[in-house]
Amino acid sequence: MHVNCVFCKIIAREIPATIIAENDAVIVIKDIYPQAPIHYLIIPKMHIVDMSELPADKGKVAAALLMMAQELSQLPGCKQFKLQNNNGPRAGQVVFHIHIHFLAGF
Ligand code: AMP
Ligand code: ZN
Repeated sequence: MHVNCVFCKIIAREIPATIIAENDAVIVIKDIYPQAPIHYLIIPKMHIVDMSELPADKGKVAAALLMMAQELSQLPGCKQFKLQNNNGPRAGQVVFHIHIHFLAGF
């Protein structure tokens, strides 16, 4: 766990969030400022700042994030969805722990 990381604190249950799904590798929460009727965040449990910092031997983490998107697509209203992943402040990243936005329910 990384000190002062909001997503690490959610993973550790130190701050509340609405948890949609969880497995050994990832957690899915509702975004507090939804940008679509359904807006979830797919977050690896491992603290990694962004995709550029993903270690070469952590391909399993990347796969787990995408496979969770597939799992979420089975939920009602989620078959058609967009994924977005911001890397770096100039690309709009504000929480520096990898996450993929899952947007659906259009
Ligand atoms: P990004 O701009 O890609 O770094 O996205 C960060 C996202 O995290 C934003 O959409 C925020 O609304 C969301 N967010 C920040 N804090 C929380 C929180 N405590 N619970 C749920 N979502 C959060
Ligand atoms: Zn973190």
